[in-house]
Amino acid sequence: MTATPIPSDPFEPAFRAIEYFLTTGNEPDDLPDDIRNSEMYKKLVATMQELDKFVKGMAKGDLSVPLVLKGTVAGTLKQIQANLRHMTWQVQMIAAGDYDQRLEFMGEFSTAFNTMAEKLKETRTNLMAEIAARKKTEEALIQTQDQLRARIAEIESLQEILRDEAIRDALTGLYNRRYLNETMGRELARAGRSGSPVSLVMLDIDHFKKLNDTHGHEAGDLVLITLGNLLSAGTRKSDICCRFGGEEFVVILPDAAIGVAIRRAENWCQTFASQEIAFGEERLQATFSGGISSFPEDGETAEEVLRKADEALYRAKAEGRNRLIVSSH
Ligand code: GH3
Ligand code: MG
Ligand code: MG
Repeated sequence: MTATPIPSDPFEPAFRAIEYFLTTGNEPDDLPDDIRNSEMYKKLVATMQELDKFVKGMAKGDLSVPLVLKGTVAGTLKQIQANLRHMTWQVQMIAAGDYDQRLEFMGEFSTAFNTMAEKLKETRTNLMAEIAARKKTEEALIQTQDQLRARIAEIESLQEILRDEAIRDALTGLYNRRYLNETMGRELARAGRSGSPVSLVMLDIDHFKKLNDTHGHEAGDLVLITLGNLLSAGTRKSDICCRFGGEEFVVILPDAAIGVAIRRAENWCQTFASQEIAFGEERLQATFSGGISSFPEDGETAEEVLRKADEALYRAKAEGRNRLIVSSH
């Protein structure tokens, strides 16, 4: 009795070919021609190749691979592709600043995506608030700085005024005696170094007490102011005009030799004596006497030169007033 051979499965080569294709992506070499040429098999291979190309494209992030196949698997794959495309667009929107983008169709991925978008929005809000707060602080700081700067400028200008007030006589605006004492030593030292002369004119209004008594203190003040203005106008910037006290004035003339000082003082003397000072209806007139000394001829120190001018002034008074006496003559 011969055993009946178990008939071989006619579909086996086709199934193996499909299995081979699914695991390697290629067709087996030993596929019988009748299967290879069958329309059914060709269609199946084409389907699998299209799916393979599509899935590989997606795996690389290429969302543009078309899928013309119909059916449940192809439909699902197309759905995934559409979802990924939409998600890509949403990411672009977030990048453009729209933090309200939310995903709803990707389960766990949606949750992660939405959490990220929310966190981004929160971080951005906090950052904006921080920036606004810093800007406000900065503005407040700038304002404080401006106020401080204005305050410093104000203080500096007040200090300047105070400094000026400390060295000036309030009535005439000329320098005061304190400034003269501070400056004269310096001027003489400088002149000593450079070998240049310094002349000094001390002058005192004649019979001033009488003028006050006759016309009043205010009239006296006006005469003092007038003489102050005359001296200021009749001297150079480098000269130092001082109200020495009461109705006495001292003018220091750096770099002026005695001859120059005499000519200048004579000019002041004549101008003052001929000046009519309008005081209301009244016309005031006054004269002064002056003593002139110079450095280094009359002394090495400020005190000596001043004393010599004072002595000369005393002589001018004694000799009849309204005149100038030069110390060394
Ligand atoms: P002499 O010719 O000898 O200098 O006489 P004199 O009257 O000018 O001198 P005296 O020293 O006797 O008088 C000076 C007067 O100057 C006395 C004082 O009241 C006045 N006097 C001092 N300071 C001021 C002032 O600021 N304003 C006014 N109006 N008078 C002043
Ligand atoms: Mg006097
Ligand atoms: Mg006088």
